[in-house]
Amino acid sequence: MNLLTLTAENYRNIRTARLEFVPGVNLLYGENAQGKTNALECIYLFARGKSYRGSGDEDLVKFGEKGFRIGISYCSEKTEKTLEYRYYEGSRKRLKNGAPVKLSEMIGNFRAVLFCPEHLSLVKGAPQERRAFLNIAISQCRPIYLKLCDDYNKILENRNCLLKETQKGFRYDAEELDSWTERLSDVAAQIAAYRIRYIKRLSPHAAALLTDLSGGREKLTLSYESEAAGETEEEIRSSYRKLFSENRNREIAAGCSLFGAHRDDVGITVNGLSARAYASQGQQRSAVLALKLAEGEVCRDETGEYPVFLFDDVMSELDETRRGYVLRETGDRQVILTACESGGFDPRAVNMIGVRDGIFTEQTPKGESSP
Ligand code: ATP
Ligand code: MG
Repeated sequence: MNLLTLTAENYRNIRTARLEFVPGVNLLYGENAQGKTNALECIYLFARGKSYRGSGDEDLVKFGEKGFRIGISYCSEKTEKTLEYRYYEGSRKRLKNGAPVKLSEMIGNFRAVLFCPEHLSLVKGAPQERRAFLNIAISQCRPIYLKLCDDYNKILENRNCLLKETQKGFRYDAEELDSWTERLSDVAAQIAAYRIRYIKRLSPHAAALLTDLSGGREKLTLSYESEAAGETEEEIRSSYRKLFSENRNREIAAGCSLFGAHRDDVGITVNGLSARAYASQGQQRSAVLALKLAEGEVCRDETGEYPVFLFDDVMSELDETRRGYVLRETGDRQVILTACESGGFDPRAVNMIGVRDGIFTEQTPKGESSP
């Protein structure tokens, strides 16, 4: 899959822009606060459906304006396709090849792997970050998974609300609680089964990449950590049912759901030790890098195409060896990266785009040398 163009109007600090990308390495470079991350955020929005920085659409509108319009054209399965996203005063429109679509129909078309400095905490950070990693990666390959997560969140909210009311003594409706419990067990089991399958596919790639990256010194393992036992949907569902029925009083006392897919985690070990507890800074960086590159491999295994790799400012965070490794590994794929400097990149091999105050300037046409 290759991104061909990005157009943006009134998106953050970008008044108007049209960027063209090449199939290999594309570099957005410029000083701090010029619009590099804004451009990547904009591209990734088409993969994820919303800003990865946790911003609402209203925050994406250029200050003083009322709406924004963004669009991409990309090549997938040898066909050129387009996606557009428009926001104006609270209402939004999504278009796929010119026809209106819902959010759930937009995700899974344009696929991208994003790696930004915040992701360096994927290993050491809270379980929520690892669940988010899984959720985003799986939903791009299997858009139906996103619907499961939406359903799950609604069921969880209702169940928690009922448990809270029961805890406070406002009401207790055992039948209603049973019904929410049954639905939660069911969807939690489906989500866990997806995640377990995904980790099984990710593990060999991530382990091979880390072994390679560390010159054979580091061995990575991944596992799905859950209170519910089992690997198949059936096994997990019955395990959840049991947990919920055995702990009903505890849950009422807590006023919230103590088990479920929202509590699970991914166990990561490096050389047999918990990476969260013991990995050094360098080991964490390498492990995250291996996970991100492996995400791209699984995406290709599942869809037949590599996703577009978006690297925001991570090159400066990686040492020479890891930087070289990333560029070698992604040599045959499309990469769009940001950096403050263009030095160190070969203008004959890299599509250089300068960024200044939200204005993008193509520097050197591919194949020509700079004057
Ligand atoms: P760095 O190298 O520091 O990461 P960057 O080039 O990636 O910089 P961006 O994060 O893209 O910088 O931000 C560029 C500018 O966009 C910032 O100065 C920010 O204040 C501005 N900005 C963010 N949101 C909006 C908005 N809604 N309207 C106008 N400008 C905005
Ligand atoms: Mg930035």
